[in-house]
Amino acid sequence: MSTTENAIASAEAHSAHTYHPLPVVVATAEGAWMTDVEGRRYLDMLAGYSALNFGHANRRLIDAAKAQLERVTLTSRAFHHDRFAEFCTQLADLCGMEMVLPMNTGAEAVETAVKTARKWGYRVKGVPDGMAKIIVASDNFHGRTTTIISFSTDHEARADFGPYTPGFEIVPYGDLTAMRAAMTENTVAVLLEPIQGEAGVLVPPPGYLPGVRELTRERNVLFIADEIQSGLGRTGKTFACEHEGVVPDMYVLGKALGGGIVPVSAVVSSAAVLGVYRPGEHGSTFGGNPLACAVALEVIAMLRTGEFQQRATELGDHLHQELGLLVGGGAVQTVRGRGLWAGVDIDPGHGTGREISEKLMERRVLVKDTHGSTIRIAPPLVISKEDLDWGLEQLREVLRG
Ligand SMILES: *Cc1c(COP(=O)(O)O)cnc(C)c1O
Repeated sequence: MSTTENAIASAEAHSAHTYHPLPVVVATAEGAWMTDVEGRRYLDMLAGYSALNFGHANRRLIDAAKAQLERVTLTSRAFHHDRFAEFCTQLADLCGMEMVLPMNTGAEAVETAVKTARKWGYRVKGVPDGMAKIIVASDNFHGRTTTIISFSTDHEARADFGPYTPGFEIVPYGDLTAMRAAMTENTVAVLLEPIQGEAGVLVPPPGYLPGVRELTRERNVLFIADEIQSGLGRTGKTFACEHEGVVPDMYVLGKALGGGIVPVSAVVSSAAVLGVYRPGEHGSTFGGNPLACAVALEVIAMLRTGEFQQRATELGDHLHQELGLLVGGGAVQTVRGRGLWAGVDIDPGHGTGREISEKLMERRVLVKDTHGSTIRIAPPLVISKEDLDWGLEQLREVLRG
């Protein structure tokens, strides 16, 4: 057996099969490129679902992490540490908000958003105890905890994990009328992805997000934007909501916030909302640790330059222009997305998304399929135009064959 086959066989024998990875075993990576255990180089067109917006081994981020590793890495929130206030101040400022509640993974931040909205509902809005409702959208992806999968519409994500957490109302994504109809006095929040990533990079109809903003404001309901995948540069703006001129009441952030180095997530909101907490009511041992803060601070500083958002805009225009040329040619049915982010529906006659991904892997391009015949393209924002063009050329070749 080859080194690759050995590694895959061992992984299959000793790890739960919660994923179906492409048969490539990565050993090192830099920028938009990964090298496998046998020395083959691959162009990364997935970027860890946007966790690697700034590329692999980004110099600024690695240096920030290394410097902090030598100082202090963990204090727990039992004590203050000297990167914490700076991190919270800077992140709140980047978001145009006032307060930050740091966590680690995306799912934890979504859980935190849910708990915050409920507490706000009881303490501030005056919803009767135990009655708080949160409206979510069909085909959402917000993470994998028992509460979060309780309001998933994806059978695989949900089956066999009940009993499910109550308190959620699911309405069709993009349908403002359905959302209005679902709202009651006890609705405390609407939780949405401004662009649905896992669902296949679904962009809602124009006017939807502003409509949700208006409706939630009218009804004294919190608008929670899960920007874990869409945020921090991917779409060409710091937040995908900006494309529609919308400012939510709460951002949920993760993925790229940790620079592809450490898991860092956060809920960012106003003092009126996050101010509901008292000591002991919520927490995390690792949330807001010094290493996480140091890396995230560098991420925030990099986003402030605007250079990554601009790259995502320019390269994204190019990506969508090139992909647009494939539509109607037989192999590609639809292309969706914004910035350097695209969901491409392949004609099922040309193979499943998985088959296309495998063929691309043979051509040294790594992407990930989602739901049947859709592939998702989201390279690191640092990718060069030449590399992006090369990757697109491989896609054209695969679709031609
Ligand atoms: C990835 C993702 C999550 C979950 O993040 P984890 O870090 O995997 O827990 C939540 N919401 C969205 C929109 C995501 O893309």
